Amino acid sequence: MRYEDFYRRSIEQPEEFWGEQARAIHWNKPPEKILDYSNPPFRKWFAGGETNLCFNAIDRHLGERGDQLALVCISSETNLTRELTYRELHREVSTFAAVLQSLGVGRGDRVVIYMPNMAEAVFAMLACARIGAVHSVVFGGFAAHNLALRIDDAKPKLLICADAGMRGGKVIPYKPLVDAACAEAQSPPPHVLVVDRGLDSGRVLVEGRDVAYAPLRAQFDGAEVQVEWLESNEPSYLLYTSGTTGKPKGVQRDVGGYAVAMALSMWSIYDVRAGQVMFSTSDVGWAVGHSYNVYGPLIAGATSVLYEGLPTNPDPAVWWRICEQYGVRTMFSSPTGIRVLKKQDASWLKKHDLSKLQWLFLAGEPLDEPTAQWITEGIGKTIIDNYWQTETGWPVLSLMPGLDLKPVKFGSPGLPTPGYKLRVIDDSSGEDVAAGQKGVLVIEPPLPPGCLTTVWGDDARFLSSYFSHFNELLYSSLDWAIRDEDGYTFILGRTDDVINVAGHRLGTREIEESCSTYPGVAEAAVVGVHDELKGQVPVVFATLKATAGDETPAQAAARVQQRVVEQLGAVARPARVYVVNALPKTRSGKLLRRSLQALAESRDPGDLSTLDDPSALDEVKRALERGA
Ligand code: ATP
Ligand code: MG
Repeated sequence: MRYEDFYRRSIEQPEEFWGEQARAIHWNKPPEKILDYSNPPFRKWFAGGETNLCFNAIDRHLGERGDQLALVCISSETNLTRELTYRELHREVSTFAAVLQSLGVGRGDRVVIYMPNMAEAVFAMLACARIGAVHSVVFGGFAAHNLALRIDDAKPKLLICADAGMRGGKVIPYKPLVDAACAEAQSPPPHVLVVDRGLDSGRVLVEGRDVAYAPLRAQFDGAEVQVEWLESNEPSYLLYTSGTTGKPKGVQRDVGGYAVAMALSMWSIYDVRAGQVMFSTSDVGWAVGHSYNVYGPLIAGATSVLYEGLPTNPDPAVWWRICEQYGVRTMFSSPTGIRVLKKQDASWLKKHDLSKLQWLFLAGEPLDEPTAQWITEGIGKTIIDNYWQTETGWPVLSLMPGLDLKPVKFGSPGLPTPGYKLRVIDDSSGEDVAAGQKGVLVIEPPLPPGCLTTVWGDDARFLSSYFSHFNELLYSSLDWAIRDEDGYTFILGRTDDVINVAGHRLGTREIEESCSTYPGVAEAAVVGVHDELKGQVPVVFATLKATAGDETPAQAAARVQQRVVEQLGAVARPARVYVVNALPKTRSGKLLRRSLQALAESRDPGDLSTLDDPSALDEVKRALERGA
């Protein structure tokens, strides 16, 4: 089918289009109305319909593919691999659901899940979905304070955690963090369910509050728990945004719209159908993990591969070994992940048979052209950049090889996906800008199925965060974009990431791109720093490739500066280039530019609760003290 026709229909006849897509999932009761848009910008997809995410992800496949692999969990930390067929997954999830019920959890109750990428995290999510409980997965390893904030927002009836996670061979006990979070929280959960991996021998259960999972699993093993049929617009789960730009928002997802969006995106965008294999390197704690490690592949009847570990452990070929071993068709990762590999020798990319692999999708951050080129050449596959947000739950911009693959343009995540009516708007006049001009990327409501329904418990914040930026009722992505003559959209960075040098507005992204064309650079972050004379000047923080040869950091810095001037002109000249070993990132791999900028301006770095590696920040501080 032609992309153009498919997309046009989704925009011009949304109810017919989505009504057809809705047939891909099982409804206990069919929708009464495909779209109820009586209270804009709130909208209800498939109003009156009754369905269940767990039923669509598991039960529906039992007849035809009960013995097919549903989930493969590979850990290069514990060196364990767990393979589950749909039948086995059904048994584990039903047992887990019975355990949840025994702890008094039911429809509408929130359950916070604080676990690493392990099978039980997936069981827990699906078990919640089965009984209509609302899960909120908090990325394992977030600090106690961060967990406490989310607990107080979600007010869970239960928290489920693992005894510990692991990272690079080091055990990270989770239980003490949970205890600290529960002590800090205003509304701590009455129960904590602890899944023991036998990693933390010192873990202690709090009498009356904590419950061990293993004995309950034995007690309820094989229990049949009936599916709770939910109205399409009831909440299915909450997921907090990454917190790159401030306090994270509790994104609320529905049931029916999300299931339909998952079904559609799996075949049309990711080109994965029943019986095929998808490997996403994401953590279950992120939007990608929810949609393309858990719900998407399972709703499609595919096999999902979940990986716990570093991309370089036991060696930098580990991902490609997994692709070979399981016959992965579509792989999904992030530009950050690829940049980690880019620090290593490219020969690691060639060690395995990737003949089954068709596509590598990357999302989460701007994909710079050198990285895209490096990985395209390295594995000889089509790399597809796709752009979305925790809020949208599935891609807004992508290419769609399941329909027909349009040409890749490096630097652009491509074309709008079905149901997304996108515009690029001038931020002051609110008018559409011409092709090739920069503006804010907005979505004309109603938002398509799968996108957030509101901010948990805070409709006012939903409206003020997303719908209050223009006179017209439009969803602002808060990202800058340019659309070219062919309709390809280029994302230029966040609307708060602009450097104003003597009246010239420069995107941080374009300067970063320019820096990373210098062969020695692995990754670059650019921030605008206050300057008496010019208002702001660009300052670069860069990491170098391990293979960069005998060039000194000072030489590299000077050459990077030179490169930017050559490519973008003297106005973009970085005032300083700091070479560091690591850049501060959120746990989801996004650059914390606001903290870099604050440090470079000798200010407080602000909320660091989502910071991944605190030593990266210390390094930046030392580099600033040393001077460029
Ligand atoms: P918060 O909203 O709490 O500040 P966040 O925006 O980092 O956090 P996410 O929802 O995880 O949280 O990230 C979505 C953002 O990531 C997008 O708005 C965009 O800025 C960036 N992004 C995602 N994919 C791409 C991509 N393919 N190209 C460029 N930028 C991308
Ligand atoms: Mg955001």
